[in-house]
Amino acid sequence: AAAGSELPGSAALTLLGPAPGAPCCPHGPALLFVKTSQGKEDGRRFYACSACRDRKDCNFFQWEDEKVSETRLAAREEYNRSHQPFFTHRQNVDRYKNFVLLPLSKRRFCQECQQLLLPAEWKKHSDHQFLCEITTAQLKSPSQLLYPLENKKTNAQYLFADRSCQFLLNLLIDLGFRRVLSVGTPRLHEMIQSKASQEEEFNVRSLLLDIDFRYSQFYTEDEFCHYNMFNHHFFGGEAVRETCRKFLCEENGERVIMVTDPPFGGLVEALASSFKKLMAMWRETEKEGDDNREMPMFWIFPYFFESRILDFFPSFSMMDYQVDYDNHALYKHGKTGRRQSPVRIFTNLTPSMIVLPEEEGYRFCTVCQRYVSSGNQHCEICNSCTSKDGRRWKHCALCKKCVKPSWFHCNNCNCCTLQKHSCEKTDTGCFVCGKAGHKRSACPSLSRS
Ligand code: SAH
Ligand code: ZN
Ligand code: ZN
Ligand code: ZN
Ligand code: ZN
Repeated sequence: AAAGSELPGSAALTLLGPAPGAPCCPHGPALLFVKTSQGKEDGRRFYACSACRDRKDCNFFQWEDEKVSETRLAAREEYNRSHQPFFTHRQNVDRYKNFVLLPLSKRRFCQECQQLLLPAEWKKHSDHQFLCEITTAQLKSPSQLLYPLENKKTNAQYLFADRSCQFLLNLLIDLGFRRVLSVGTPRLHEMIQSKASQEEEFNVRSLLLDIDFRYSQFYTEDEFCHYNMFNHHFFGGEAVRETCRKFLCEENGERVIMVTDPPFGGLVEALASSFKKLMAMWRETEKEGDDNREMPMFWIFPYFFESRILDFFPSFSMMDYQVDYDNHALYKHGKTGRRQSPVRIFTNLTPSMIVLPEEEGYRFCTVCQRYVSSGNQHCEICNSCTSKDGRRWKHCALCKKCVKPSWFHCNNCNCCTLQKHSCEKTDTGCFVCGKAGHKRSACPSLSRS
């Protein structure tokens, strides 16, 4: 539900936020929505699943004012219970301990169930595809072993290209951080964990928060928390929340940074609300009371969400660095030339501290006091490096701002737009990219094919 935020016509679904006393689906407390048309509430408010943008993944629905019978409540509780993972995290940790004791010849991974198998379980999976001789190296890179849940709108698992992951890690180490709260960044977590186990002097630690419970097979309770970032729900309850809280305590002067790379189709307002709660958790653990400090954060998201993110986090700025992915046809480096990735880093750290690699063409603009991409020219009139997408933008005197190179000024519309457009069409356009003609759910900027 949280997905198809647009309905036909000018109607849309608006998130009213996490509501106290909201009913629960297997993904934790549901979110409260209302249908709006022309900006006004129009119709009954209802609850829907926070995590699943596809009805097929979770079809939870309840009117806000609906009376739910005792029988239905009991059935729902039973349903939620039965939709919890088969093994608990504790059990998975024990299973892992047993697994690594096995000789190589007995280490199997079921590809269908996405599960490490103990010999006693082989029979049950005999007609499933499995991988043999799982090495320690493979166990240390679960993001390579597990298949990315990319087809499911819900998870939208797009893994960092090694180059981008390495860049992020080096950057935060150079900035002096020693603890990383990895929210939906399993590959960054994995890189940190694996270096920590291999290099003696490497002293960075990471805690992974993710809704993908498959990772609980590879990490202990101090390394992975089953978490929903759309409603700030810790699946394991208080004990798991406490693990996260403890991690955020900056003991021995080990500074913490949060790095997150949420599904792009997700609701920014729901994410922002959860991230504020994680920031509050960090602030509560502060010994010295400087109330204005914010937990340092990298929020990785497409550039066309800039204004939405800044609405919620005015202290953030967008960096020019283009984040690349492995399993994303659109957002990765090609062999010939470079596909421009629209994905950027948003941060509340001082932009001048974020050093971008000069060998990839980034340069420092002394006026703007930040690194910019090679194509991003400083505009004397705007007095800033104005390009958002890496291409050189051009200044329009009539609009009094810089615009995309492919745009031209339309005197009818009184603004710059694509050559091909129909004038004075009051279509509000796509919520994601701002273009007319399609809705957010069908936005080509988000297409992953
Ligand atoms: N680029 C990152 C992965 C980003 S993909 C990396 O390489 O490390 C988005 C991640 O968010 C996935 O790991 C996915 O499992 C997780 N995710 C999706 N929905 C979530 C939710 N509701 N709560 C927490 N994590 C979620
Ligand atoms: Zn759900
Ligand atoms: Zn500049
Ligand atoms: Zn300009
Ligand atoms: Zn113009």
